[in-house]
Amino acid sequence: MNTERTVHILGAGFAGLQAARAVLHKDRSAGVTIVSAVPYATMLPALPDILTRRVPPGAIIRDLKEIFSRYGERVSVVVAEITEIDLEQRTLRDTLHTEYPWQTLIIATGSTPEYYGFSQTKNLQQLDTMENAEALRQEFHHRDGTAVLVVGGGYTGLEVAAGLRVGEEKHPPITVVDVADHILPFLPERRRQAILRYLVAMDITVRSGVALQEYDGTTAILSDGSKIENVLVCWAAGMRGTRTEIRGTVGKTRDHRLHVASDLTLPGYPQVFVAGDAAALERDGQVLRRAVNFAFYSGRHAGRNVVRLWRGRARKPFRPVDLGWVIPLGRKSLGTVFGVLPVGGRLGLRLHYLMCGFRHFGVTQTLQFYWTALRLRRRVD
Ligand SMILES: Cc1cc2nc3c(=O)[nH]c(=O)nc-3n(C[C@H](O)[C@H](O)[C@H](O)COP(=O)(O)OP(=O)(O)OC[C@H]3O[C@@H](n4cnc5c(N)ncnc54)[C@H](O)[C@@H]3O)c2cc1C
Repeated sequence: MNTERTVHILGAGFAGLQAARAVLHKDRSAGVTIVSAVPYATMLPALPDILTRRVPPGAIIRDLKEIFSRYGERVSVVVAEITEIDLEQRTLRDTLHTEYPWQTLIIATGSTPEYYGFSQTKNLQQLDTMENAEALRQEFHHRDGTAVLVVGGGYTGLEVAAGLRVGEEKHPPITVVDVADHILPFLPERRRQAILRYLVAMDITVRSGVALQEYDGTTAILSDGSKIENVLVCWAAGMRGTRTEIRGTVGKTRDHRLHVASDLTLPGYPQVFVAGDAAALERDGQVLRRAVNFAFYSGRHAGRNVVRLWRGRARKPFRPVDLGWVIPLGRKSLGTVFGVLPVGGRLGLRLHYLMCGFRHFGVTQTLQFYWTALRLRRRVD
C-alpha cells in the first residue's frame, strides 16, 4: 500500500464508506484504512425494522471486508473503538491503548445518544445501533406484562413506539413523553394533529411537557410525579456528536458536532476532514439536520478533496442539496420531499424502503429493500 497516499477513515457509516469509495476511485494508487467500532456497516434508518421485522435483520447490515473485497490490499479494515484523536501527533488511540498513526484523516463518527444529564442510563434501551435495537427487541419479548415508555417525541421515539405496535403481537401500554410542549415542533399544526390522531388510533399515549426523572430498570418516575411500574424505557431523547476525546483545537456546536471549513477540513488542520453527522454541515448559515443524504454526499466530497489535497489542487467547497426526508411510522409515514411536497401513508413508506435500498452497501441488501417496498401493498394495513 502507498503510505504517502493512505487516508485513515474513522467510522464506517454512510459518510465513511462514501469517502473511502471516492478516494479509491479518484486515485488508483491510494490506500484506505477504515477504523470502525463494529465489523459491519449498518443501514441505520432501517433499525425500526428490527421491531417490525418487515426486512430481515441480515439485510440491515453488511460486513465491511465484504464491501471492500474487490479492492484487495488497497483497503484495510481495523475493528477498534477509538477513544482519542490526537490532531497534533497525528495518531488515533483505541480502548486497548493501541496507537494508529495517520497522515490524512477523515472523521466520520456519526452521532451518539445525548442524555442531558440523566445519569441512570444503565437500564435504558435504545435504537441507535444494530446491537441495541436487537437488545431492545429481546428485552421486550423477555419481560412479561411490561409497559413501554419512550422518552423523546422526535422521529426516533415515534418510530420505536409505532414499530413496537405494528411489529409485535403483544399489546402493552405504550407511552411517549417529551419535555417540550409539542412533539415534532417543526411540523405545521395540521400535520402534527394528524400524527397525534394516528398515534391515538394505535393506542399510543403521548404526554408533552414531561421528562423522565428516575428509572431503576423496573419503575419510572416522571417529572409530574407520576410513576409507571414494570416498564421498559427506551431513550430516544436526542443525539450529539462524538464522545471521543480530541486533542487539538476544534470548535463544536452545542450538540458537539465539529465546525468545519467549507471544504470540510477542520480549521487549522488541512490534513483532517470531517463528514456526515460528526460535522456541523451548514447551508445558508444554518446547521443541517442529521440525515443519510448529507452524510453520503459530504463523505464523497471529503474523499474527493483528500485526493485534491494530495495532488496539490484547490479543494472545493461542499454545497449540500436537501432532497427531503421520510420517516416510517408503523403502517404510515411522514415526510417532505424537495423541501415542499408533503408525503405520507403507504407512498411515503414505499419511498423510505426504496431510499434504504438505493443507499445500501450491497446488491443483495438493496434488492431485499426494493422487494419490501414492492410488497407493501399486501403487507401494510
Ligand atoms: C433509528 C434511526 C433512524 C434514522 N432514520 C433516518 C431516516 O429515515 N432518514 C435519514 O436521512 N436519516 C435517518 N437517520 C439518521 C442517519 O442514519 C444518520 O444521519 C447517518 O447514519 C449519518 O451517517 P454517518 O456516516 O455520519 O454516521 P453513522 O452512519 O452513524 O456511522 C458512524 C460510524 O462510526 C463508527 N464510530 C463512531 N465512533 C467511533 C469510534 N470512536 N471508534 C470507531 N468507530 C466509531 C460507528 O460504529 C458507525 O459505524 C436515522 C438514525 C437512526 C439512529
